[in-house]
Amino acid sequence: MRDLAAQPKLCAVNTATFGFQAPLSEVIEEIARAGFGGVGPWRREIEGQDVKTIGRQIRDAGLSVTGFCRSPYLPANSRAAFVTAIESNYRALDEAAALHADSYVIVSGSLPEGSKDLSAARAQVAEGVALLCAYAAERDIKIALEPLHPVYAVDRSCINLLSQALDICAEINAPNLGVCIDVYHTWWDPNLARDIARAGREKRIISYHVSDWLSPTIDVLNDRGMMGDGVIDLKSFRHLMENAGYDGLVEVELFSAENWWKKPIAETLGVLKERFATVV
Ligand code: ZN
Repeated sequence: MRDLAAQPKLCAVNTATFGFQAPLSEVIEEIARAGFGGVGPWRREIEGQDVKTIGRQIRDAGLSVTGFCRSPYLPANSRAAFVTAIESNYRALDEAAALHADSYVIVSGSLPEGSKDLSAARAQVAEGVALLCAYAAERDIKIALEPLHPVYAVDRSCINLLSQALDICAEINAPNLGVCIDVYHTWWDPNLARDIARAGREKRIISYHVSDWLSPTIDVLNDRGMMGDGVIDLKSFRHLMENAGYDGLVEVELFSAENWWKKPIAETLGVLKERFATVV
């Protein structure tokens, strides 16, 4: 396995990790100062700003943009609303291109208001992802479809299994389409080893997110654990990823409203660095 302790540049930090407590320009400088190699920014942080300038600041700081987060949800109640959702994804892809982002992360969404039809939502996601792939290909951006833990199946994502995401990739078969594999969403899957190996074979692994699943957890949305504080066997997970040929950055994404979001950014980065070196 790669030595993350010796190569902190292999680690990236998703800005959600700091709870959006500081402006993006400050967060970029802190991440670079800590010696990491990449940043995963969010749309809400660049709103109203000059995206190209932010992209330049990130590159000047020696960081790459791993993934741009995240897509507006795709499933909708009407054709018109679906078209609107696709258009707002196109605008987000324009921003990703201006940032020189390596990939655009799709969190699909799930049941639209009042609907109980998961199959229809899934069909809309497949249709939408195909459209976004074509648009992204013209801008040299990869699309990373991220399956989310089934606890989010009602609203945030109707794509809940890695195998399900890989099936969509196979069906659409676009060279710029792949998956984002997040330990928090996939660690429990009994077919994890099989499906990570498949993702590698099919050349679909675009990104890799880490955090930990706390036990007990008080909130499945905003109580993610720092790596090493929960129940996920992170080393075995990385072993599966690297055996499958993954050689990209390892990105921490920590939604932690009651704990890490309340700490100074520099303190969190210090702990991150130590955990990357020891438990990931
Ligand atoms: Zn993630």
